[in-house]
Amino acid sequence: MQKYYGEPVPEFTTCIPEINKGMVFTDDGGQTFRFEQTGLNVWRSSFDKWLADKAAESGTEVRDCISAVACEEKEGFVTVTFRGKETYTEQAKYVIDCEGVIGSLKKKLTGHDSKLIHTYQTFNLGSIDLDYQFFHAYLQPELSEYDAWFNVKDNQLVLGVSVRDADKTQYYYEQFIEYMRKNHGLRIEKLLKVDKWLMPHIQPGCPIDYGVGRVLFAGETAGFLNPMGEGISAGMESGYCAGMAVVGNIDNPENALDEYRNKVSDLHDYMKRQWNLVASMAETFREMG
Ligand SMILES: Cc1cc2nc3c(=O)[nH]c(=O)nc-3n(C[C@H](O)[C@H](O)[C@H](O)COP(=O)(O)OP(=O)(O)OC[C@H]3O[C@@H](n4cnc5c(N)ncnc54)[C@H](O)[C@@H]3O)c2cc1C
Repeated sequence: MQKYYGEPVPEFTTCIPEINKGMVFTDDGGQTFRFEQTGLNVWRSSFDKWLADKAAESGTEVRDCISAVACEEKEGFVTVTFRGKETYTEQAKYVIDCEGVIGSLKKKLTGHDSKLIHTYQTFNLGSIDLDYQFFHAYLQPELSEYDAWFNVKDNQLVLGVSVRDADKTQYYYEQFIEYMRKNHGLRIEKLLKVDKWLMPHIQPGCPIDYGVGRVLFAGETAGFLNPMGEGISAGMESGYCAGMAVVGNIDNPENALDEYRNKVSDLHDYMKRQWNLVASMAETFREMG
């Protein structure tokens, strides 16, 4: 955040433990690997609010409860149609499309349909015999169709599974909970919240959609996501690079996409290395190697 805003992430966005010390993976043979790399533990609601406030502070007009429903490339500009209380269309020199995993505008522009993984996680009161300062990822195929995880936010035990087939969510979640009970002494006292969402199913080679003409894609819309659903840093960095590519080529759209591609090449290489590592740990991810 120092790089993007010249200031650290404020304390009100973080939860306990404030610093996550890294990841502990359990591979498909049940062996564990500990990777130490510190990161902030935040609540997305507060963190995203802070991001929106920072954007507003720097002069951006933030419009809430409004969807971009269409985007069209014209000669020398792009039109975007918005739908809120009313529907209206505006023009822009460029559009940075960072609408996340669903990517409905991207789909309309490119015809590319992202493959999806379904996520299901619960927030609970209770106890467990695991180091709560680490994010724990489980790659055994009997526990999920992708990965399963445990972490802690403000004393809440977060337990989740991800699947390719949404109908199998409950089955895998129950398998995972039973595994955590047996192997790590999980005791759930109270279920506080259930959270269902999606993430892109990253394909071999980690293909990225950089954009079309004057529309640049960033974050998950472009295809950026590291293993174990780690995508915030890639979302921020790719959005920053897209912005810088636009600023440097405001009247040269033919250069903007190339410059964007160059600027995110290190990020893309990092992503490929991360997926390669996971490929070596479990059959589910072997194709990513
Ligand atoms: C269960 C789960 C846990 C995760 N945990 C972590 C984690 O611990 N660490 C981590 O780094 N990542 C995590 N991720 C991944 C991370 O959430 C995403 O990779 C990241 O948020 C992607 O950022 P983004 O900006 O591309 O998209 P998003 O954060 O999804 O933002 C897209 C925004 O665009 C808005 N939008 C969508 N369509 C339109 C439209 N048509 N018009 C207007 N607005 C629109 C959406 O409402 C949303 O606000 C997790 C993901 C899941 C599902």
